[in-house]
Amino acid sequence: MNKINELFGSMVFNETVMREKLPKDIYKKLQATIREGKALDINVASSVANAMKDWAIEKGATHYTHWFQPMTGVTAEKHEGFISSDQTDGVILEFSGKELIKGESDASSFPNGGSRSTFEARGYTAWDPSSYAFIKDDTLCIPTIFCSFDGSSLDKKTPLIRSLADLNEQVLRILRLFGETQDKQIQVTVGSEQEYFLIDKEDFLKRDDLRLCGRTLFGAKSPKGQEMDDHYFGQLDARVKAFMNELDIELWKLGVPAKTEHKEVAPRQFEIAPIFETSNMATDHNQLTMELLKKVADKHGFACLLHEKPFKYVNGSGKHNNWSIAANNKNLLEPGETPQNNARFLLFLCAIIKGVDEYQDLLRVSVASASNDHRLGANEAPPAIISIHLGEELMGILEAIENKTNYDKTFDKYMEIGVDILPKFPKDTTDRNRTSPIAFTGNKFEFRMLGSSMSIACPNQIINTIVAEELCQFADELEKSDDFKKTLNHLIRKTIKNHKRILFSGNGYTDEWVKEAEERGLYNLKTTPDTLPYYTSQKNIDLFAKHKILTSQEMHSRSEILFENYNKNIYVEGSVMVDMTKKKFLPVILDYQNQLAQTIIAKKKACESLKCHTETEMLKKMEMHCDSLMQNLEILEKELAETEKIASLEKRSRAMADIIVPCMDQLRADVDALELMIPSSLWPVPSYTDILFHE
Ligand code: ADP
Ligand code: MG
Repeated sequence: MNKINELFGSMVFNETVMREKLPKDIYKKLQATIREGKALDINVASSVANAMKDWAIEKGATHYTHWFQPMTGVTAEKHEGFISSDQTDGVILEFSGKELIKGESDASSFPNGGSRSTFEARGYTAWDPSSYAFIKDDTLCIPTIFCSFDGSSLDKKTPLIRSLADLNEQVLRILRLFGETQDKQIQVTVGSEQEYFLIDKEDFLKRDDLRLCGRTLFGAKSPKGQEMDDHYFGQLDARVKAFMNELDIELWKLGVPAKTEHKEVAPRQFEIAPIFETSNMATDHNQLTMELLKKVADKHGFACLLHEKPFKYVNGSGKHNNWSIAANNKNLLEPGETPQNNARFLLFLCAIIKGVDEYQDLLRVSVASASNDHRLGANEAPPAIISIHLGEELMGILEAIENKTNYDKTFDKYMEIGVDILPKFPKDTTDRNRTSPIAFTGNKFEFRMLGSSMSIACPNQIINTIVAEELCQFADELEKSDDFKKTLNHLIRKTIKNHKRILFSGNGYTDEWVKEAEERGLYNLKTTPDTLPYYTSQKNIDLFAKHKILTSQEMHSRSEILFENYNKNIYVEGSVMVDMTKKKFLPVILDYQNQLAQTIIAKKKACESLKCHTETEMLKKMEMHCDSLMQNLEILEKELAETEKIASLEKRSRAMADIIVPCMDQLRADVDALELMIPSSLWPVPSYTDILFHE
């Protein structure tokens, strides 16, 4: 136990290390920057840089890097040695405050959505003191934000950090209205459950689709899939257990509080969940978790697949983003012990309900990607329709509030909020409605639409911003009221009445829900191209501008990047399919047909009366599929070339979804049918059975 204590965070320049290594006044100033967002002066930075460098070198580090999260969704780093010339023939180890605060890199190859022309291809990284520096692979990693020459944000972290500051301000306004004035800083807490597949590295390396696209683009159904439910929470075999143990240790060293690991529904699918942390740290830590999953898997002879849908016919992988807010280490989404706490809780709840209803489109955008399109609405993950599940108990309470009726027999007056007749909310009646995109789970909201490979920065930034907006509206109204209780009651009742259409407790996988949602006027944005145009609607641009999250120009750049990512993703997948069909599958298919033909000839030569019925029938069938395959291959190739010519990114994305994806499905159907006709020993890539049931 003590060992784990020592190990945990041993590679992190955390508060304990700062207190130990920094002069007292510097430590205090740095804390003020971290906690209250005060500007950092260069003397403090120099002193911190020096302490960081000494600490890092002591731990074996030789290099440092500004570690940032560009719009690619993965982290980026550019390593620099600590060495400087000592002006004679040796070196000294140096790391200045300036180097800590600001880095510069030629960043012309990062996606920027046209917000930075290539001749000004400088990107700046700036230290984000609110996330701890850490040592990874003998390199001191300094969490930074990334912006362009003119200061526009080019990364995922900047808007998240801005949204946190904004939400902080609005929550404090509400807390003050409830007479709670002691806090200066709230905590937005996030715990993200991460799903992934772990397959044998040998199998992975043999398939170009897995290597290049992260998912299988072909593959006939294995006779067995996940129908027996025998994988979920099943025992871990020794190899997987060894992998998970090492993963935990590596994560713990970096201060990532990895806590739960278990098998998921599909064969070879697993989940890792951490203890929740503040939003910014949780975002960095989820990136590190994804990185280490891959690295440690590789060491154990596995490949870790973070793709949202690596295999057809079994569940894909997602990420559940658990979100809450706390002040003074008290969870504000915890239904309280006192009427006042309950009233406050209901107000926050209403802010979330109203925000989700008014900004369904933004939430949908925050989880939109080509790979996540395979899951949402496919009866394995929440539908593409956004709704909130509150659980029966809380729904009952909201209905009683709205209708001014009794909640249950023990309360004989209609409910007023903020007076002593509000019932205590039972804590553990949260219903596990797995089909709901956003579920209240007792003291937090769980957003379940995220894809497994996504950064959690954007969804969290959007949740923070929409909640901040609603709290801001509430605070505006409450601050100018001269009857707080009355206004509060009115606000809560009005919000429930106007936004209850977003509340849904039933089965989200059914066709009835799709119909009902349409009647309720909820969005059903099925694909990424359906979704992305909403990002830059005037309503959303106004929201981001009001809260100083992103400018209209920054949003347009991001929209371009999102469209481009989608288009490239589908284009590469289509191209890989063409390539694999021509170079892997066709030669084998033709060879086998030839083998059959030769057998027929040989058999007939040996004995003229033989009918060779089996071989002939197989050959005919294969010929039929081959004809179809050839035709679909040519169509896909032609359509890929045509689609590439479409200049407008939005129009191109439509063509990708409406033309290329169906062409890919058709080609796959032919190849998969042929796979079933050819001996497995001849098939040029490992099959679904080989991969999913690899022992
Ligand atoms: P499950 O959803 O599988 O039942 P849990 O409810 O135990 O799992 O928790 C899921 C995740 O939610 C964990 O990462 C946990 O740390 C996180 N979590 C718990 N409380 C909070 C909170 N107040 N804020 C944010 N995340 C939380
Ligand atoms: Mg969960």
